[in-house]
Amino acid sequence: MSSDTKSPLHHSFAQVEIPDDDILTQCMHCGLCLPVCPTYSLVGIERSSPRGRIRLIKENAAGRLSLTETFIDEMYFCLDCQACATVCPAGVNYGQLVEAARAQIYESKKESGFWLKKFFFRQVFTSFKRLKFLARLLRLYQKWFEPFLKRIGLFRIIPERLVRMQELAPRISDHFFDETISEKTLPTEQPKYRVGMLSGCLMNVMFADINRDTLEVLLHNYCEIITPREQVCCGSLAAHNGDFEIAKKLARQNIDIFFRLNLDAIVINSAGCSAFMKEYAQLLHGDEKYREKAARITGLTRDVHEFLMEIDFKKPVSPFQSKVTYHDACHLVHTQKISAAPRDLIKSIPGVEYVELDEASWCCGSAGIYNLIRYNDSMKILDRKVKNILQTGADILLTGNPGCMGQIAYGLKKANSPMQVMHPITLLNLAYKNSVRNDQ
Ligand code: SF4
Ligand code: SF4
Repeated sequence: MSSDTKSPLHHSFAQVEIPDDDILTQCMHCGLCLPVCPTYSLVGIERSSPRGRIRLIKENAAGRLSLTETFIDEMYFCLDCQACATVCPAGVNYGQLVEAARAQIYESKKESGFWLKKFFFRQVFTSFKRLKFLARLLRLYQKWFEPFLKRIGLFRIIPERLVRMQELAPRISDHFFDETISEKTLPTEQPKYRVGMLSGCLMNVMFADINRDTLEVLLHNYCEIITPREQVCCGSLAAHNGDFEIAKKLARQNIDIFFRLNLDAIVINSAGCSAFMKEYAQLLHGDEKYREKAARITGLTRDVHEFLMEIDFKKPVSPFQSKVTYHDACHLVHTQKISAAPRDLIKSIPGVEYVELDEASWCCGSAGIYNLIRYNDSMKILDRKVKNILQTGADILLTGNPGCMGQIAYGLKKANSPMQVMHPITLLNLAYKNSVRNDQ
């Protein structure tokens, strides 16, 4: 529904694209979502549950509730993990509701840290050049200044919040992924598939090794890989924090870039990015010029585990001895409904002992920048996750989203656990390499 055809429910959603009436009124108050909601489980208050938040959003949309501090706080206390949507018998698209509410808040400029967020979304994530410049500075800091500050004891006098941020920030890669590869990479055998690869914004500078593993795994599976130089951030961080204008701008840029490449698939190894690129059709459904192209890109987008299962990927032959467990990233299991593919992929590796994790699909508390802006809540959620992980007795925790990897690694380190945290594609690549070694 456009803002010029407002129903009585849409009194105050003036500036942003608003959810349809049927989405706003779909909740039938059954309460089935309450036990799966991490924030409700923390505080036990109705307004911090999915059902309670839907009611708040509806009241706000109808103009009966303004953007009060409590309203804003609730919208950002929510992790946008979408566990509630998975269990909802009425099919409420909760993500769409909370993101529309956040867009409303963003427009009002009332949230704390608004200008800082705006700076990052608009000035940093829109330009790989600026992002890489900042990443280089951070790398210098992490390599040289951080150890020095620790050595001279300065960490004891700088604000705790800053110390935590440094500890949570993943290490910047020694070499950025896009600077180590050509735009087009060919397998040694005749290619069977032509795929585009989203190298990502943070993946490119902080998780270059996982991108490299993804590239090698795809090559091993007869893929010709195009990694367009001009690609941009997928826009998910901006959209999840209410800046739809910039998210749409980034989406249009990526659509133009990937659309002309004549691809069989666009393969992505970060759950948050693949989930969002699958939403391009929904995001741009009101844009006549981009509607069709966006739907095409949505149709081509694949999470890497999903893609490998679809093409019946090559199974490693030599045993790779390890005991592993798997955490479902919310944007994989709840947003994309992908849970079997990563497990099947992991279990296909000979020698791997797989242990199912209790509450595997319970959020880890990372949730984009949630762990930075709501550290205490995030840590309570993480503690529950880490407790379950430690009970598996695994050597390696696997998960398909960089945010979860960083968060869980932080939790395990705090618990003094030596357990490794790894992307399933890295494990698969190690198993391939092991098979090749044993062949020689
Ligand atoms: S499960 Fe769905 S319908 Fe039931 S209360 Fe929650 S959001 Fe509403
Ligand atoms: S998205 Fe997650 S935290 Fe937010 S209401 Fe739903 S289950 Fe709760």
